[in-house]
Amino acid sequence: MTKFLPKKTLLLAGAGHAHIGMLRRLSAARLKEADTIDADIHLISEQPQTIYSGMLPGWMAGHYQLHDISIDIKSLCVRAGVRFIQQSLVQVNAASNKVVTTGDAQTDFDYDVLSLNTGADTDMRWLYNHNDHRSDSDDRDVDVGAVNAHANTDVIAIRPLSTFITQWQRILKDAQSSEKYQLAIIGAGAAAIELVMAAQVALRNINRNHQVILICGENLLSGFNSGFRQRVIKQLDRHGITIIRERATDYRDGELLTTHKSLPINAVIAATGVIGSAWTASTDLKTEGDGFVAVNNKQQSVSHSNVFAVGDAATRVDKYVAHSGVHSVHGGAVEADNLMAYLKDSVMKSYQPKSRTLYLLSCGDKYAIGSWGNINLQGRWYGISKKYIDKRFIEADKG
Ligand SMILES: Cc1cc2nc3c(=O)[nH]c(=O)nc-3n(C[C@H](O)[C@H](O)[C@H](O)COP(=O)(O)OP(=O)(O)OC[C@H]3O[C@@H](n4cnc5c(N)ncnc54)[C@H](O)[C@@H]3O)c2cc1C
Repeated sequence: MTKFLPKKTLLLAGAGHAHIGMLRRLSAARLKEADTIDADIHLISEQPQTIYSGMLPGWMAGHYQLHDISIDIKSLCVRAGVRFIQQSLVQVNAASNKVVTTGDAQTDFDYDVLSLNTGADTDMRWLYNHNDHRSDSDDRDVDVGAVNAHANTDVIAIRPLSTFITQWQRILKDAQSSEKYQLAIIGAGAAAIELVMAAQVALRNINRNHQVILICGENLLSGFNSGFRQRVIKQLDRHGITIIRERATDYRDGELLTTHKSLPINAVIAATGVIGSAWTASTDLKTEGDGFVAVNNKQQSVSHSNVFAVGDAATRVDKYVAHSGVHSVHGGAVEADNLMAYLKDSVMKSYQPKSRTLYLLSCGDKYAIGSWGNINLQGRWYGISKKYIDKRFIEADKG
């Protein structure tokens, strides 16, 4: 007599780049009636839509409408045959194969296999206790969850993007009724640079007196080569953006403090790197660095083999892989294969990131700078290429 075993439960937490790719594959496989993951699949997401970060600066600069940069996760789940649960993940108890979520009510979900793609939080530790002149590396001793929970709420964090969207709309409204609006963006990475140029274009379109200031410390674009940095500095100069190479330390009552300055500023946006999501503060999963789930080259948790993590939520223990959308997409494709393999008890693959990835940095006005290894290029053509690549990603399931 044939014995039917109950279907396993695969729980997907977060609707990041990797899970979007997985939902698209499941949806395409369903259409073709092809072999797919043999499990009951559920996806937990805070929002029914996900904002695509690559196009966010373009939206700020006025090149896109909000619907152009949003992906409808709920509809994608329907097409993929996945149950959509609008909740926020707050805890993972890996020893008991359970997650806890909040939404309308606090709920527990059991799983056989868990995949985590919840991204990361903005690192707000620069707001905390810098008056004692500690070094950057000392910051790691600070309790990440506690600091972000108590971070000064006057500062607008770039993540979560869904909250940032509303705050940016408020900034534009305030700027429309102001004679001279001053916005500071704190950060030294590519995201901060894109934001600062997009913001300057948007604010100057409202009033030529408005000004955006970049507060970037001493290490502007430290992950890029000097040729790329020089091109970026020229573009910041072309837009008339003020660069302050000091650390921001606090922002209260309209006053931004840096190492040596006190500036009157209407609003401050922090794009100050990433730390692990709040839920990682109380999990039994092994985490590393600033609260990222420690995974092997198969994107599998090193402490619990039925848990996988990908994108900004994860950190590889065997090699450095930058937190970026590109690695979430490519690592996610490998992870999706591995989830299927794990459920079938077959061999898993390893994710081998390419040694060079193309980075196209948008300059606010349809102009972009490209970097591929040591090769740097710039111009409107790269802006067009970025638009094409971004639209291809966002419109992949729009038929
Ligand atoms: C302005 C800007 C521009 C960028 N441009 C680029 C670029 O051009 N190229 C590039 O490679 N990278 C870029 N990045 C970096 C990139 O955004 C991230 O590395 C990437 O989004 C990480 O993808 P992810 O799949 O890990 O998670 P995310 O894309 O961050 O998605 C995480 C998802 O999980 C959801 N979520 C979060 N917490 C919970 C929870 N507790 N419960 C349930 N759901 C949750 C979120 O709502 C979100 O939908 C940019 C970043 C910014 C800020």
